[in-house]
Amino acid sequence: MTILVTGGAGFIGSHTCVELLNNDYQVVVIDNLYNSSEKSLDRVREITGKDLKFYKGDILDHDLLDRIFKENDIDCVIHFAGLKAVGESIHKPWEYYNNNIGGSLTLLDAMKKAGCKNLIFSSSATVYGNPAEIPITENCPKGTCTNPYGWTKWMLEQIFTDMHTADPEWNVILLRYFNPIGAHPSGLIGEDPNGIPNNLMPYITQVAIGKLPELGIFGNDYDTPDGTCVRDYIHVVDLATGHVAALKKIKENVGLGIYNLGTGIGYSVLDVVNNFMEATGVKIPYSFKPRREGDVPQCYSSAEKAKKELGWEAKHSLKDMCRDSWNWQQKNPNGFKD
Ligand code: NAD
Ligand code: UDP
Repeated sequence: MTILVTGGAGFIGSHTCVELLNNDYQVVVIDNLYNSSEKSLDRVREITGKDLKFYKGDILDHDLLDRIFKENDIDCVIHFAGLKAVGESIHKPWEYYNNNIGGSLTLLDAMKKAGCKNLIFSSSATVYGNPAEIPITENCPKGTCTNPYGWTKWMLEQIFTDMHTADPEWNVILLRYFNPIGAHPSGLIGEDPNGIPNNLMPYITQVAIGKLPELGIFGNDYDTPDGTCVRDYIHVVDLATGHVAALKKIKENVGLGIYNLGTGIGYSVLDVVNNFMEATGVKIPYSFKPRREGDVPQCYSSAEKAKKELGWEAKHSLKDMCRDSWNWQQKNPNGFKD
């Protein structure tokens, strides 16, 4: 089976390429390298000892997409390509809607023309907004997003669902990711943020390596066990194997499938800091700061549906995630930029 991976050079995409190749899928990647480096794909080849095909280009490019489908017999698309910085999306809504929604519509058009009707999409727990229930099941109603990035996920879920409704031959799996962290245990691929990280784990590893002086913890007066926000952190390798499980499901003509990819366990910001220090022996100085706008107090999944229907569950502990994030940071202090 040949899989087109959009955004395959990125953080989650590169880890998924490894798992696809390890499971003997043929892999074709399209990525414009806006937020990634081609080096990640060389590292994927190094880890797996297998090759993949790379097209450097944009999913907004109709002609390129048509060419990719003509040159390759694509069975399924795993669609990661998109802009993902929550804060930036508030200041650049047009860029986010154009890239994420425009790019996905272009992709759907090329898929229609080529007769490829199998799609796995990177959605996010952000579609639940301030969740109506905890742990969050897939039946939890979609909520109100607080930023254009979140709305693009929300709207794209609807668009892909409507494709399936109009033509039930379309198999669509919406994967709602919780908080992916960690890195491949080889330390060859990992998350490589530009500038000062917005997300918790890359911020912690940059404090650990001395690039940043201390971690600011956003809020310690939430209604949670220790007052800091609770999230469902999942190892990126587990997330990647979730895509392989979803591909197996798609082969059974699933129709429309919606799955949370999380561990089902909520950890607070302080839990993450303490686990990081225990797993690595490195001290993380921190201080409490005001709450960050848009943060919900608690967000963690029920992981039961994916376990039952996909036969998949996350295997790595929070300490594994901390150890592998630190291993990646130490081996690549400047990410792929050296
Ligand atoms: P990433 O930025 O590392 O990867 C996205 C990749 O898409 C990058 O390599 C980028 O260059 C590429 N890309 C962006 N726009 C493109 C375009 N128009 N044409 C071609 N390539 C394009 O991000 P990631 O963390 O690997 O996330 C992958 C997907 O998962 C994204 O859709 C993201 O929104 C979603 N997601 C991520 C998280 C998270 O916390 N990382 C959580 C939930 C959902
Ligand atoms: N967080 C923090 N300091 C930081 C970055 C994040 O305290 O420098 C907190 C943030 O408020 C949230 C949690 O860590 O409660 C996870 O944030 P992240 O941005 O990684 O993911 P989100 O859940 O917002 O998608």
